[in-house]
Amino acid sequence: MQYFSTRNQNHKQYPSEAILRGIAEDGGLYIPERFENFPMENLPKMTPKKISETVLSLLFGKDDMFREEGSLEAAISRAYEGKFDGEDYAPLAKVGNAYVMELYHGPTAAFKDVALQLLPQLLAQARTAREIDDEIVILTATSGDTGSAALHGFSDVPNTRIIVFYPKHGTSAVQERQMISCKGKNTCVVAVNGNFDDAQNGVKAIFKEAELPENVRLSSANSINIGRLAPQVAYYFKAYRDLLLADEICMGERVNFVVPTGNFGDILAGYFAMRMGLPVGRLLCASNRNNVLSDFFENGIYDRNRDFHVTNSPSMDILISSNLERLIAMICGTDACSKYMNDLKETGRYQLTADELSEIRKVFGAGFADDTETLRTIRAVYETERYLMDTHTAVAWNVYEQWKPMLTGKTVVLSTASAYKFSSSVLDAMGILYENEFDAIKKLKAKTGVTIPGGLADILEKEIVHQNVIEKNEMLTFVEDHIRGGDNK
Ligand SMILES: *Cc1c(COP(=O)(O)O)cnc(C)c1O
Repeated sequence: MQYFSTRNQNHKQYPSEAILRGIAEDGGLYIPERFENFPMENLPKMTPKKISETVLSLLFGKDDMFREEGSLEAAISRAYEGKFDGEDYAPLAKVGNAYVMELYHGPTAAFKDVALQLLPQLLAQARTAREIDDEIVILTATSGDTGSAALHGFSDVPNTRIIVFYPKHGTSAVQERQMISCKGKNTCVVAVNGNFDDAQNGVKAIFKEAELPENVRLSSANSINIGRLAPQVAYYFKAYRDLLLADEICMGERVNFVVPTGNFGDILAGYFAMRMGLPVGRLLCASNRNNVLSDFFENGIYDRNRDFHVTNSPSMDILISSNLERLIAMICGTDACSKYMNDLKETGRYQLTADELSEIRKVFGAGFADDTETLRTIRAVYETERYLMDTHTAVAWNVYEQWKPMLTGKTVVLSTASAYKFSSSVLDAMGILYENEFDAIKKLKAKTGVTIPGGLADILEKEIVHQNVIEKNEMLTFVEDHIRGGDNK
């Protein structure tokens, strides 16, 4: 199996190289040259672990990484065993007529744990496959959840360093504290005066421009890394299995998925699953007020020339959704994709042809919810169903409700964070007053009785160990200095 760049189909690499590099030399993202079929007939009998194993071996093959017998199984066990609250890493809850897939039971209480617990294992395999013993520096831009999940996943992993950049005023207090209290000796956390796109663009520029010592390599923990995306494909199959086992669907029946979307990674994993044979009806892309994606699915024009809004679902506050490039390349081909990405860079916008748009709209639909609608949804679902959701999940639920009259078959809404990660917004929804984020967590618990996730219970008492704040144009020099200095703080 080989991977190629979204901007040039002749630029091919082994999966291990794609994972190590994170991003292709031409600035494109890696996509698989083909999709192998998942053996659907075996799905009902598979354990969640077996599903992950099957997905990864289909996506990466076994002639590059995982050559050693049992290494894939071992990697998955190391990543997941004992890391999630409860037995099931992605339980389905029936809420009204739909199902909510709770992906937030990992160590940092957001769905990104699913991928970021596994990514260090994939990198270790990639290193073995390429016989590389350079130090790897993981660079990550985060709107909040990637940072803490990546810091958790990579903390004290040998021969690896991780530097996380986050927008100083763009994350929740809990998200920020999760990051700046991270104790791993190989971790570095930096606040940037700017928004998420500034941080992400800064990281992309560092990949292109950084001058580094010989034995140091950069890689990425963002969903531009194919190693981030692949583990997420598995839970779409798992949700389908759970619905089969609960007799909610018959084999072959199409299921819809509604996904709260930022960088377009999570929902793209659903598209990968579909290309591997999962019976998918619709993939619904849910955005907040930064609704560049819902406009795109409406009219085929991607236009980032608009105001950026800080919302109560901050992990989706993004105007450039990197992974959309992968979908564009798969639908339009790499030549067109390369042109569109150039348009985006030059003018901040690009426009698909009518045929390309209609191809995409066969599967994808979209919608958005603003802050007020998000809060109203949290309250309404809690009052009618006694089900507690965070702001991101509520955006998706709202879009589900907008689409309900048009959908056939069962629908799964992906829940991407624990409500406790965004306690103050959730209390705003319920009309309950609080003094600060810490107080908000306690009051939410008192109101709902829902268990506080393990990693959040004492979060605001944790000592702050990272205090870097820089301007957005200082990111490159910061990284070069940090690496040359060999200073880990
Ligand atoms: C990252 C994140 C998202 C968006 O996921 P993408 O893969 O970037 O589209 C949604 N919700 C939460 C809570 C997140 O942390």
